Amino acid sequence: MTLTAGHRPSSSTPTPTPTPTPTTGGLVDVLQEGLVAPICLTWELTYGCNLACVHCLSSSGRRDPRELDTAQCTALIDEFAAMGVFYLNVGGGEPTIRPDFWRIVDHALDRGVGMKFSTNGSRIDATRARWIVARPYLDVQVSLDGATAAVNDAVRGQGSYATAIRALENLAEAGARDVKISVVCTRDNIGQLDDFALIAQRYSAMLRLTRLRPSGRGATSWHALHPRPEQQRELYDWLLRAGDRVLTGDSFFHLSGFGQPLPGLNLCGAGRVVCLVDPVGDVYACPFAIHEHFLAGNVVAAGFAAIWRDSPTFTALRVADGGTCTACPSFSTCRGGCRAAKFFTGLPEDGPDPECVRADRTPTGAGAVPVAIGPRPVPDKDHSRGSARACADHPLAGWTPPTAGFEVAFPGAAATTTGGASRR
Ligand code: SF4
Ligand code: SF4
Repeated sequence: MTLTAGHRPSSSTPTPTPTPTPTTGGLVDVLQEGLVAPICLTWELTYGCNLACVHCLSSSGRRDPRELDTAQCTALIDEFAAMGVFYLNVGGGEPTIRPDFWRIVDHALDRGVGMKFSTNGSRIDATRARWIVARPYLDVQVSLDGATAAVNDAVRGQGSYATAIRALENLAEAGARDVKISVVCTRDNIGQLDDFALIAQRYSAMLRLTRLRPSGRGATSWHALHPRPEQQRELYDWLLRAGDRVLTGDSFFHLSGFGQPLPGLNLCGAGRVVCLVDPVGDVYACPFAIHEHFLAGNVVAAGFAAIWRDSPTFTALRVADGGTCTACPSFSTCRGGCRAAKFFTGLPEDGPDPECVRADRTPTGAGAVPVAIGPRPVPDKDHSRGSARACADHPLAGWTPPTAGFEVAFPGAAATTTGGASRR
């Protein structure tokens, strides 16, 4: 993919007036105007999941009956390939519960589009681990939110630690190197960072630390789980000391307010270099921004390239960062922090991050810069199980598989889907 700045407000789109803002020069100024294709395209293949993590950013559990089918998925991959997307981050829900998941993987790899998929590990047995290792442009990321079963299972559910560790063992035994262990940092696991590093070392894996965002079910669990101010400092110091083999993406640039910037993208990439395609083909500015406010269009109706290029939602995000934070000495590296975190905590998008680390901390966590706190938006998508609906207990209930002759079993689920029908 060519890293070319896209100066692309469409003729039909009102062009927002940029707030005068200090420029930093270089890559960040280029990236904030958007690229011809996203660097980080997250694609959630299903909202179905056999777990029910309390902080799930997509409130997954039940599949959506409008989920893109196999033909739509492969056509979308062809479009990604044609526009130069070279890498997909695939997630869900639990993507491997789709019986066509492995075919979709192979289709992407055949088209020259690399893939990393996120999984809770429940379907990575020894055979599947060898299948994965045999594909050089396929990467896998196993979620683990505690270095002990007690801490992990409190968030991800009973038995999920053992499941993830078993998947890591299978992958290591198959010869996988640099599998990613994805950790959402919470106030319960910040004290386990060294232990996570040891687990990664044990399985020849890499640690990937992610910020907890208040989106999806995380909107509800945010106040109980997001790190305390002193833990933000502990995390920052740990990343400076031991983070050279740790991936963080754009998770922690708001911590730059402590002083020395951390490696990684110091910019909110929403709609600029990052976006999300959800299981029904809706395109959002970022995986943590699944809300009408950030909705840019639907790939079935419009195709992905046109949405990425011309959507008014994305055009509005591709202006210079501005607002009250421009007065902050850390603005050139923090730039006001995460838009999704601000939006879902009711803070103005041109104000400071809810976990701003500068100065005294108000009850919202936003300190040095005065902010007007608005009503907290309620996440408008919820696929959680537990309702009285027919599909509440089984992520594939009601779904007709595309072909007969396969069987999907779920650990802990009292249902099996087989040969074109769902049964309980
Ligand atoms: S909204 Fe937050 S999570 Fe999304 S791209 Fe911006 S900084 Fe990253
Ligand atoms: S005031 Fe704004 S730019 Fe400064 S550290 Fe806080 S969020 Fe970042």
